[in-house]
Amino acid sequence: MTVFEEIESEVRSYARSFPCVFNRAKGELLWDEKGNQYLDFLAGAGTLNYGHNNENFKGALVEYITNDGITHGLDMYTKAKAEFLETFNEVILKPRDLNYVMQFTGPTGTNAVEAALKLARNVTGRENIISFTNGFHGVSMGALAATGNSHHRGAAGVSLSGVSRMPFDGYLGDDVDTNAYLDKVLSDSSSGIDKPAAVIVETVQGEGGVNAASFEWLQGLQAVCTKHDVLLIVDDIQAGCGRTGTFFSFERTGIKPDIVTMSKSLSGYGLPFAVVLMKPELDQWKPGEHNGTFRGNNLAFVTAKAALDHYWRDDAFTKSILQKGQYVEKRLKAMAEQYSEGVFSTCGRGMFQGINCVDGDIASQITKEAFANGLIIETSGAEDQVIKIFCPLTISEGNLKRGLDILEKSVQKICLKTDELPDESCYFDHVQVDENVKWVS
Ligand SMILES: *Cc1c(COP(=O)(O)O)cnc(C)c1O
Repeated sequence: MTVFEEIESEVRSYARSFPCVFNRAKGELLWDEKGNQYLDFLAGAGTLNYGHNNENFKGALVEYITNDGITHGLDMYTKAKAEFLETFNEVILKPRDLNYVMQFTGPTGTNAVEAALKLARNVTGRENIISFTNGFHGVSMGALAATGNSHHRGAAGVSLSGVSRMPFDGYLGDDVDTNAYLDKVLSDSSSGIDKPAAVIVETVQGEGGVNAASFEWLQGLQAVCTKHDVLLIVDDIQAGCGRTGTFFSFERTGIKPDIVTMSKSLSGYGLPFAVVLMKPELDQWKPGEHNGTFRGNNLAFVTAKAALDHYWRDDAFTKSILQKGQYVEKRLKAMAEQYSEGVFSTCGRGMFQGINCVDGDIASQITKEAFANGLIIETSGAEDQVIKIFCPLTISEGNLKRGLDILEKSVQKICLKTDELPDESCYFDHVQVDENVKWVS
């Protein structure tokens, strides 16, 4: 029996899928204590968009610690905080014509969601929140109420209230505009849906199965919110920080949410860090009314600033992400066509991609086989039926191809039920990568 089985709670989950002891990581690679190397296509569920121990920020962090910089300061002013705020404003907000103030919450995503929901309720004086089928917003009570998954909801132990669920884009099929339904129930005083404080939405649902809302749907959603004087919260905790190509996942839609939550990759280094961005007129908090001992992680300020400086001062990173994303999408489409007799489909946006195996058992056999071949990759969705391709955005061309080759062989093996596989991937040489776009690592 390992120490984990002996002392750690049964609640552990990823450890069960990848049962080895890791002790070193660099970029998109992980090593276990026996020295075995793995390719990381899980990347902290979107926390390691810039890879493990990114050399471009590590020096700044080490230097800060060596110089006895402030590690913990509650929410007091620090130089590290000032520099992060200035850089975020200059590199992210101003060029995008976004006018937000920033609240530092406790350091995890669910802390930011709690703060966002509380703020929306206080500002509007309304209780109800609209969230969507298959949405995931965290597992503390308020966020959990907005989360769809019954496995998570079932553990609450109390009724999860104050939220009404609406169908996400595509939930009722391609022909049904679910915004029209939302508009209808908000217009009808007898619909039974209390007028909400806010709508909370992921532009691409991460835990819910890599469901990407169309840009038109997101624009329509903002229009419905405006029409009914309801706040729009985009939960960009997983889809943000470049995962879909742009820094914010909603940028290319032109929408301007009233509130945005961010966490996961915001620190750039896998350090705990979460924020709420809100339009200034919504900032009606009284001092200390919402708090958290670890609000504002100074080490994260240092690496988050370094990440903004290094990757977001021009559009080279965005181009690289979109280019890599096109490559991933082509490879996944090819796998879906070639090995599943058209049963599998692909989904996602940018480097937020999935292959829907329809059957959770098949998806899990494929990810198990991939792990046996050195690829760490997870599933998501209601039945864990979607294999989620979530490598660092900074992955090298060689390792991206290698990871997809392992995935492809695993799909072949499980779907074709044979060990006699061709040596080379069928599609390896067929994918054209635009040579004008530099792949950023
Ligand atoms: C991960 C996630 C959360 C919760 O973040 P935690 O740090 O796990 O609390 C909330 N919303 C979305 C969209 C997420 O992906």
